[in-house]
Amino acid sequence: MIGLPRGVQDIMPSEVKIWQFIEKTAREIFESYNYQEIRTPIFEFTELFTKGTGETTDIVIKEMYTFLDKKGRSLTLRPEGTPGVVRAFIMNKIYNLNIPWKVYYIGPMFRYERPQAGRYRQFHQLGVELLGIKDPIADFEIIKIAVEFLKNLNLANIEVEINSLGCQKCRPIYRKALMDYFASFKHELSEIDKERLERNPLRLLDSKEEKMIEIKEKAPSALDYICGECQEHFEKLKNYLNISNIPYKINPKLVRGLDYYTRTVFEITTDILGAQNAIVGGGRYDNLVEIYGGPPIPGLGFALGIERLILLLSKIDLDLSLDEKKLIYLAIIDQNSNNFIIDLSEKLIEKKYRIEIGDPSLPLKNHLKIANRLKAELVIFIDSLIKEEKIKVKKLKTGEERILNIYNLVSELEIML
Ligand code: AMP
Repeated sequence: MIGLPRGVQDIMPSEVKIWQFIEKTAREIFESYNYQEIRTPIFEFTELFTKGTGETTDIVIKEMYTFLDKKGRSLTLRPEGTPGVVRAFIMNKIYNLNIPWKVYYIGPMFRYERPQAGRYRQFHQLGVELLGIKDPIADFEIIKIAVEFLKNLNLANIEVEINSLGCQKCRPIYRKALMDYFASFKHELSEIDKERLERNPLRLLDSKEEKMIEIKEKAPSALDYICGECQEHFEKLKNYLNISNIPYKINPKLVRGLDYYTRTVFEITTDILGAQNAIVGGGRYDNLVEIYGGPPIPGLGFALGIERLILLLSKIDLDLSLDEKKLIYLAIIDQNSNNFIIDLSEKLIEKKYRIEIGDPSLPLKNHLKIANRLKAELVIFIDSLIKEEKIKVKKLKTGEERILNIYNLVSELEIML
């Protein structure tokens, strides 16, 4: 038997309802804020991620699925959605005529991580991106959409954490302060953290190394170093959140695992699984379009992991069968009724029922077994009665049986249901 590589999984038909529910809710919410779906390729040039996601990030250092194609070009399975969206924005010169540009995506991402509960090598994210608005109302809108989306999934126990990482002007000052602070603990740092210190000291705030947990407690906070403009931006965002009653917490140690963030970063966490877990991550990336060779256009967005979301939703009661169409099983016993069957199927579909056309080679009792297993509401027996223009129908829940005339069959069925 050929199995599956580590860290990937099938989403079987029995599990797919929750995926469809999440995707449907996402589309509804995102589209109601006038975001349109974009579908970018699964693989891109490796450079897109090294330049954008960033050379100091765990993703680029050790988690990318990178390979050479037959012509020796380096390609990478996308580890996150933002770079592809921004590339598409620039390549299609959207900035000339179409900003602000508001898009969302839903799809698989790939990271070579150690698989564990809720962490996979192929996983799925949905996210939104907004390009072309500098004003903090955009930061607010992005957070609001994420919150609203989670609320619509009945996830109530959520907390928004925000921070500001400053801009090109003030970030170097903060960076230097972090560098100086952590350098005084250099002898205590693990090898990985020493490397982080060299490459990008902001990463150390993200470190899960045991020693670091204590050290980073007293590390300088970005909010003490950001410039007046960044400060004002942050204050306005807080004001919007206050007005719309979105509870939030300022987490001055919040950094995100991607290099391109500027100013606002945020996470939405929940304690449904016990420890506090991030479910949504996002922020502003005002330099990314320029990094990719485009004009200076600001951007921001968030991404959410669908597998982790499903893990959370499994802890709360969700009835997904509510809007399911009722199932009618057609048990074909008379082999000469093709015209009638095709006609009836079309009528039932038109009336928004689901139908299961039984295998005509099966004996009667197997039809009933299958209809029960499928939880059909009704079984329609197409047998010799048809010669008398009659049809037997059975309601499985109650066992009630009726002989109906074929000419008003559909309206009679509606009464039985
Ligand atoms: P990030 O793109 O790293 O900011 O991650 C955003 C969200 O994607 C996280 O909060 C997770 O829910 C999800 N995520 C990230 N990596 C994985 C993974 N390997 N497997 C499953 N979900 C993931």
